[in-house]
Amino acid sequence: MLSQDKTKALRSIPAVETLLAAAPVAELLKDHPRALVVAAAREVTAQARQAILVSSAGDRLLELSLDDLVAKLVARVHAAARPHLTRVINATGVVVHTNLGRAPLAESARRALGTIAEGYSTLEYDLERGERGSRHDHCADLLCELTGAEAALVVNNNAAAVLMVLAALAAGREVVVARGQLVEIGGSFRIPEVMAASGCRLREVGTTNKVYPRDYAAAIGEETALLLKVHTSNYRILGFTASVSGAELAVLGAQHGLPTMEDLGSGVLMDLSEIGLEKEPTVQESIAAGVDIVTFSGDKLLGGPQAGIIVGKKALLDKIKRHPLARALRVGKLTLAALEATLRLYRDLERAWQEIPTLRALRLGVGELRERAERLARAINAISGLSATVLPGVSEVGGGSLPLAELPTYVVGISCDHWTPDELAATLRQGALPVIGRIKDNRLLLDPRTVAPEEDKLLVRALGAALGISRGD
Ligand SMILES: *Cc1c(COP(=O)(O)O)cnc(C)c1O
Repeated sequence: MLSQDKTKALRSIPAVETLLAAAPVAELLKDHPRALVVAAAREVTAQARQAILVSSAGDRLLELSLDDLVAKLVARVHAAARPHLTRVINATGVVVHTNLGRAPLAESARRALGTIAEGYSTLEYDLERGERGSRHDHCADLLCELTGAEAALVVNNNAAAVLMVLAALAAGREVVVARGQLVEIGGSFRIPEVMAASGCRLREVGTTNKVYPRDYAAAIGEETALLLKVHTSNYRILGFTASVSGAELAVLGAQHGLPTMEDLGSGVLMDLSEIGLEKEPTVQESIAAGVDIVTFSGDKLLGGPQAGIIVGKKALLDKIKRHPLARALRVGKLTLAALEATLRLYRDLERAWQEIPTLRALRLGVGELRERAERLARAINAISGLSATVLPGVSEVGGGSLPLAELPTYVVGISCDHWTPDELAATLRQGALPVIGRIKDNRLLLDPRTVAPEEDKLLVRALGAALGISRGD
């Protein structure tokens, strides 16, 4: 038996029709399908009913006003209408954040995307001859110009690039690689497994910390198809170590008539020591050292769209292009458009530093970051319920690159009168433009390094909106 209170409370839940007639809902119906709004209204009333049924005596049962239910309904419809792949503000300070989409694109790359998306294009058409062309031609010349390679090919991502090179050049045979370079990159990319998937056999040489050219030489035999070097992008072997350089590997390959390959991971085209970071090997250096095939990502430190880039000797690239995987792993026009525009910026390195968001974020100086953090903190302090202070902090390169690099920064540390840092972070994630920060020492930290200056206003607005929700509580 239901108590009288509960019966009364249940009866006070408005009918779905009443909800639909409320002014804000009528407004919603202009932009959203009726079926979606009706379904949300049913869910909201069902939830209210359930809440009353499970409530215990003493709870204030009658508090659900029509306005409350309407507000819940509106929020539900907005959440359902939001695209699943949604823009967010990355305030984590991790520059190449794989979970948050790695590289934001430069303005010229975004424009190229829009233009190519909007109409037809020369994806596989040769304007000069008026006949079929190849999609492989679009970025190839630029890649050769920038890296010094003879030929280039773009595929879906660097994992695909490695898989394809191995499958095309070494299937059924052995690939020699140093034991200390059997990398695992976030989740499922592990060198031994990629080798198995490509149909070649792994021949490990050296020890975890040391490998010499003589180790490779001793392993080379009838079955050897390729000598591989993998950049230890997301870890470092420190202390008593030795490794074989690209140049030494190239000499070995030439002596034994074997092709050589280097998986560089991040794809850096400029000297990062210029901005005080550890020097990452550049693509040009590997090619100049004589390595036959070099692969790298488009969306790590290169700062472009997700892609895998293969550069190197023309004869080998021709063989790779003829492999059936070339078709399976090829990229679409949107990737090519964004990648070509990104690569063009590298013709002038200073322009690349300024216009490619990833590089710009890496180069930001602490003075500038401190000023931005202070400006943000002032705006956030004006929101009632929040208090913000500026603190020194550390940003990360991320994306499995430069694992030891510590980029000094200034962060905004926020505490909230109403919520714990976890609750504040959760509320910010639910907003119309979600903001992702990190929590440390009982504060929510926002690092301006990974927030575009144009996003500062949006970030403050998102915080204001989050606190607006709390005022009714
Ligand atoms: C990141 C990385 C990969 C995988 O590249 P994706 O573009 O993420 O597929 C492969 N090898 C190395 C050394 C890497 O650092």
